[in-house]
Amino acid sequence: MQHAEIVNQIMEMFAVAGQAAYYGEAVSQTEHALQSANLAVQANAANELIVAALLHDVGHMLRGSDETTAKRGIDDVHEELGAAWLERHFGPTVTGPVRLHVAAKRYLCAVDSAYLSGLSSASQLSLRLQGGRFSPGAARAFESEPHFVEAVALRRWDDAAKVAGLTVPGLEHYRDMMESVLSEGSIDVTGS
Ligand code: FE
Repeated sequence: MQHAEIVNQIMEMFAVAGQAAYYGEAVSQTEHALQSANLAVQANAANELIVAALLHDVGHMLRGSDETTAKRGIDDVHEELGAAWLERHFGPTVTGPVRLHVAAKRYLCAVDSAYLSGLSSASQLSLRLQGGRFSPGAARAFESEPHFVEAVALRRWDDAAKVAGLTVPGLEHYRDMMESVLSEGSIDVTGS
């Protein structure tokens, strides 16, 4: 599949599923993704990490999970689903932070006492379903994961990207960046 087609497929996914509410928050999936990416831009993150921020919740859209999913006691494991889908096209600098962004929440809850109390109620609910905060040993182990630093940065943007009505650049703003990251990082552009 050509890079432009992959990006079109991503745009289509946002058009179809991105209007759904973001997991009990005041923004849609698309707004949440765009605010996450914009925070990465403001932090001067590498293009791969900006793309990871934009696409970190693609698993929610693939799954069709919505704001009632966590309330029904279900962990949709969207980080694994999203990373596995992205791995078909993107390299580990994109997929690693996406896969770890839920573990990064469990990590931050273990090492930063202010972080847990600052989480939204929807995020605290899903935290319980995701296994709660890491033990001190699990937190230390997490620090040696590849992409640990990027995953924690992505997590903080994720948590902040829930501002109702905020104006940020739209999806088209990221089209060329996604195509160039695909060119650098894709492992297989001929299959699927
Ligand atoms: Fe998110």
